[in-house]
Amino acid sequence: MHHLAGMPEPLARLVEQLSAYQGVGPKTAMRLALNMLEQQESEVQSLAASLQELHQQVHFCQRCGGFATDVHCNVCDNVKRQQAVVCIVEQPVDVLMLERGHFQGSYHVLHGRLSPVDGVGPEELRFKALDKRIAVGDIKELILATSATVDGEATAHFIARRYAHHELQVSRIARGVPEGGELEYLDEYTLSRALEQRVMWERASPIV
Ligand SMILES: [Zn+2]
Repeated sequence: MHHLAGMPEPLARLVEQLSAYQGVGPKTAMRLALNMLEQQESEVQSLAASLQELHQQVHFCQRCGGFATDVHCNVCDNVKRQQAVVCIVEQPVDVLMLERGHFQGSYHVLHGRLSPVDGVGPEELRFKALDKRIAVGDIKELILATSATVDGEATAHFIARRYAHHELQVSRIARGVPEGGELEYLDEYTLSRALEQRVMWERASPIV
């Protein structure tokens, strides 16, 4: 990369590594790298330790698929949460967004959404884990909080049909969610409202 010419090698390497992250262009990467260089060495060492711990300690909850530092996440382990009400989301980060509101239920993270174009079918998502949770019979309501994208909508309909033969209340988060909206980009207020004003769905016809 010609714009890194003349730069000390370790600095150039860091800039290049930082540029690989989503939303970080070469200019931002350079600003960050210089910032780190200006900091005390102990500060930067602590940052390095955090990066290491990130991978060692954060993984996915075996039950809901959200972020966890143990076998189960804090929500699944919390007896005060309504484990019978399950909000279905696409990504672990969606859980973090919803947790900023007042939701008292639990979650199930699909780790994606159905996308025939990209070859993502039900097998690629965490449906088997959801089947199990529903088969046990302790789930009463599914709140479909997949994104307001074409694939997100299709995924919501698929879920409603997949579990149509169970005694489940199925709802879809309200249209406060803008068209094409990923939960990640919604503010806390919009999200809380979208959840509170969720729309109950008629029972879908099961997939045969
Ligand atoms: Zn969990």
